[in-house]
Amino acid sequence: MQITSIEIKQVKRLAKQLESTYPELKLGQRLDKAATQHLGVRDYHEAYRLYDKWVMFHVHASEDADRVSKCAYCEFSFAPDIKADLQSHRKIHDHFHEACVSLGYQPGNYVQRELMKHDGREQAASGQSVEIRVEGVLMLLRGWFDRSLADAIHGKYWRKHPTFEVYVAMILDTLGSSYGDLQRVLKERYGYLPGVIQAGNSYWYPRND
Ligand SMILES: [Zn+2]
Repeated sequence: MQITSIEIKQVKRLAKQLESTYPELKLGQRLDKAATQHLGVRDYHEAYRLYDKWVMFHVHASEDADRVSKCAYCEFSFAPDIKADLQSHRKIHDHFHEACVSLGYQPGNYVQRELMKHDGREQAASGQSVEIRVEGVLMLLRGWFDRSLADAIHGKYWRKHPTFEVYVAMILDTLGSSYGDLQRVLKERYGYLPGVIQAGNSYWYPRND
């Protein structure tokens, strides 16, 4: 069973609610009861152990000797033998996950984004038909969009970040003239919103006004 920060928060909330039903129980006992009721685990300790496992599941040690590990899920790099680093990762990991669940969308990680950009560019340049080339350029833009959105999650302004469809309308100036014929198709389908993202930039930022 996968237990994430969301389930842990639900258990804590339930344990609080149980206070009125079981006023004689201590907090630890109520947490155990809530964990069993909500997640079917033996006790809160087991729930937390599974949650710990989830936090570290995508963390891979670096092949270099610099002792830095990277999480393939939230993309945080840290030294796993430093307690403060572990805590920072847990916080960022939880936040990233909760944002993705709320968005109903998980932006691709670095490896996936690079693949989208590479394959997308290739397909946009050499696809057999305009439609296939448009699909290619959308794949490239999805790679950019995912990076912009991941940045917005870490910067805590993800709730304001445009959807992919709106982002496409904003990014056309950055896409540049090499996709001239495809630009026209994209403008027809997604519209054109210049000036929000500066030409040459692929990140969306909230305005300060
Ligand atoms: Zn992580």
